[in-house]
Amino acid sequence: MRILLHRADGRTEPWLKDFSKYLPEAEFEIWHAGEKSQPCDYAVVWSPPEAMLPELAQVKAIFNTGAGVDALLRFGDAIPREIPIIRLGDAGMGLQMAEYVTHAVLRYFRRFDDYERQARAGIWAALPPYNREDFAIGVLGLGALGMRVIEALAPFGFPLRGWSRTEKRIDGVQCYQGLDGLDTFLRGSRVLVCMLPLTPETNNLIDRSNLGKLPAGAYVINVARGAHIAEPELLSLIKSGHIAAATLDVFRNEPLPAQHPFWQEPRITITPHISALTLRRESVQQIADKIRSFESGQPVADIVDRNLGY
Ligand code: NDP
Repeated sequence: MRILLHRADGRTEPWLKDFSKYLPEAEFEIWHAGEKSQPCDYAVVWSPPEAMLPELAQVKAIFNTGAGVDALLRFGDAIPREIPIIRLGDAGMGLQMAEYVTHAVLRYFRRFDDYERQARAGIWAALPPYNREDFAIGVLGLGALGMRVIEALAPFGFPLRGWSRTEKRIDGVQCYQGLDGLDTFLRGSRVLVCMLPLTPETNNLIDRSNLGKLPAGAYVINVARGAHIAEPELLSLIKSGHIAAATLDVFRNEPLPAQHPFWQEPRITITPHISALTLRRESVQQIADKIRSFESGQPVADIVDRNLGY
C-alpha cells in the first residue's frame, strides 16, 4: 500500500515515524511541488495546494488531518465525487476545544476581562457579578466538537442552548435547528460559541443582522472559521456596546494582518488558530485504523458528505 503525504509546513519526518509505528505495512511518498509522484492508494493531507489535484484525483480515499474540510472542498469536482474525503473525528481536538471555550466563557462570566483592565489601571474594585441564569450559552454546531464543549460546560449550571441542521434531543440543552430555529436560538444566547463547519450555508452567518438578535451585552467566541463572521460588522457592534467582547481564534485572513483593526480593539481577544491543534499521534492512529477498515470493506467513520459540505 502506498500513501501520498503532504504537510504544508514541510515537517514530514515525525508523521512518517508515527505512521511506521501504526501502519508499518504502508510505504510513503512525500508530495513535492514540481515532482511527479508514483501512483498512490491513499493521500493524507492538510490544506493541499491546487498543484496536488492530479495526484489527489487518482487515490482511493483522501484523509484530511483536521476536522474542517473547507480547504479541500474549495476544489469542487476537481476532486472526483467518488473519492471519499475522510476527516478527523475528534482525535484529541474535542478536549482542547472544551478547555478553550470553557476558559473563555468563565473569563467573561467571572468578569476577569474587566478585572484585567482594572488591574492595568491600578483599580481595586469589586464589580457586580453576573447571574448564572442570565448567562445562557448558545453553541452553533452540535457535532463532535460542539458536543464536547456542551459536556464540559454542563457542570457549571449555565442554561445551555444548541443549534444544528437536523433535530437533536440532548438532556439539559435547549435544542434548535435550521434557519427557522435560528432567531429564537440567538435571542436567548448571552454567549454565542461558533463550532460550525464552513459551508455555503454557514459562510458569513454571524453578520450584523444575526449579531443584532443577540441580547445586549452578549459575548462572541469563534473557534470554527473566520468566514463565519462578518468582521467589520462584529467590530462595529463591539464599538457600539451591543456586543460586550469577543474571543476569536480564526480569521478571514490568517495570519491576521498587522493592519487589521481587531488588533487595536481591547475587547477582542485574539489567538492564532490554536483552539484545537491536530495531535499527530492520535491523528495517525485514527487514520491508520480507518485505512485498515477501508481496505477490509468495513464502514469508515467521518466520511464527508460532499452535498452538505461537512
Ligand atoms: P461536525 O461535522 O462533527 O459537526 C458539525 C455540526 O454543525 C453539526 O452539528 C451540524 O448539524 C452543524 N451544521 C452544519 N451545517 C449546518 C447548518 N447549515 N445549519 C445548522 N447547523 C449546521 O464537525 P466538528 O464538530 O468535528 O467540527 C466543527 C468545525 O470546527 C470544523 O468544521 C472546523 O471548521 C472547526 N475546527 C476548528 C479548529 C480550530 O483550531 N479553530 C480545529 C478543529 C475544527 P447536524 O448535527 O444536524 O449535522
